[in-house]
Amino acid sequence: MAQQIFSDWDIPEYILDALAGEGWEHPTEIQREAIPSARDGRDIIGQARTGSGKTAAFGIPIIEKSEKTGIPQSIILCPTRELATQVCNELQWLQGKKGLTILPVYGGTDLEKQAKKLDAGVDIIVGTPGRVIDMTKRKHLDLAAITLLCLDEADRMLDMGFWPDISWIFSNMPERNQTLLFSATFPQEIIDSTEEFLTNPVTVMSDDLEVEVPEIDQCWIRIGRANKLWGVGRILVNMNDSDQCLIFCNTKRMVELLNDRLGKHRFSCSTLHGDMSQNKREKVMNDFREGGVKTLIATDVAARGLDVDGVTIVINYDLPDNPEDYVHRIGRTGRMGRKGKSWSFVGRDDLRQLERIRTTWNLNIMKAEAPKLPDHVDRDPVRPRKDWSESSDPFGMVRISIDAGGNTISSSLSLSEWIISQAKIKELAIGEIKINNDSTTVDIHSESAQRVLEIMERREYNGNKLKANLENY
Ligand code: ADP
Ligand code: MG
Repeated sequence: MAQQIFSDWDIPEYILDALAGEGWEHPTEIQREAIPSARDGRDIIGQARTGSGKTAAFGIPIIEKSEKTGIPQSIILCPTRELATQVCNELQWLQGKKGLTILPVYGGTDLEKQAKKLDAGVDIIVGTPGRVIDMTKRKHLDLAAITLLCLDEADRMLDMGFWPDISWIFSNMPERNQTLLFSATFPQEIIDSTEEFLTNPVTVMSDDLEVEVPEIDQCWIRIGRANKLWGVGRILVNMNDSDQCLIFCNTKRMVELLNDRLGKHRFSCSTLHGDMSQNKREKVMNDFREGGVKTLIATDVAARGLDVDGVTIVINYDLPDNPEDYVHRIGRTGRMGRKGKSWSFVGRDDLRQLERIRTTWNLNIMKAEAPKLPDHVDRDPVRPRKDWSESSDPFGMVRISIDAGGNTISSSLSLSEWIISQAKIKELAIGEIKINNDSTTVDIHSESAQRVLEIMERREYNGNKLKANLENY
């Protein structure tokens, strides 16, 4: 069967011209399935993997339906300012010569200026909920006239954080007659909740609600807090000129901290999070898009929807708190069939979360070691550290193996008394001692372990230096 091409549809010339101008010939699967129903005026729940062209799947029908009247007819809501900008830009070129006024409406920008633009007449709004509500309350935006509402990253827009805003917007749109929801992830409870505000929707979904993850080579490394910086160093030092890397942390503070630390090790990175000024956010995103910034450290503001061609590597410096975010974060790479790689750092406390992510989406996340140093580099950019807490058992004990150099250790009692007197640690800090012919192990509380190791290296036990090593738990 011949592959479908855009001009098979009787979509308007201005859109076909625009698509041809961008070199797009074939609609993607989600576009093939969603566009005809959306053109028919149906409500849609559209799920398709990250980077599969959802923007145009709603963008094309929205542009076709909107007319140059200066009265807003369609509104698209996004979770972040960066995504609103991106979606707005795509709609802008998709409309070709149609001449619709498409306006981004989000916070952090001059209210007065934005109000003037709204007053001058707008056909399509692309915005974030907070500012849209604000502009509606200030009477610069009349939601009542709008008939089409689209939620990009819909599951995020309908979750508890955004729901009060979205619900306010719904209730101020009495003329709403078409609603489009798009995302790569739709948890069942979100689908269930849509009954309230969708009418007989067409559901476009990959099989079994399963999330297809694009060509992304996903792996995880067992690494504790103390060595995450070392791990990032290993990955960054292996980057090629054509690589771009996006590093996710769970908090703004961690983003800044990691940026400082990497800076001290001469890695130049930029940051993106919600506490930055809008100017700064825009500049960083532009630099990242243009490739001037190679490594971006971000919170989940960058997890959803952003389409930056060059991103080849995603690092979860912290594992995300919810499984959806994992899929969206790694989906910043591997866009439109390109290849990508993701690394997740997993400490002992994260093992369960990793399992949850894996089973929620049935993902193949492979255990791996941090990448080796490339040939031309002979020293770790960040030195590895002994990570006591990562090596300890649930009681906080680490296991030290001792080589007495051929001499046998006489008894566990004498060994523990020696350790207590030399290292001046509490008796409770010593756990099980196992003496075998060829090996001896002592369990020491992680807080005292460093001290005990040092003592063993320096002092003699029955006339011998002991060789001691930390065993991995
Ligand atoms: P999603 O929203 O599904 O994550 P996007 O809409 O951001 O994906 O699209 C991902 C990338 O694919 C964008 O760079 C977009 O311009 C490109 N793209 C989308 N549809 C097509 C198409 N039919 N042909 C070629 N490129 C496309
Ligand atoms: Mg998208």
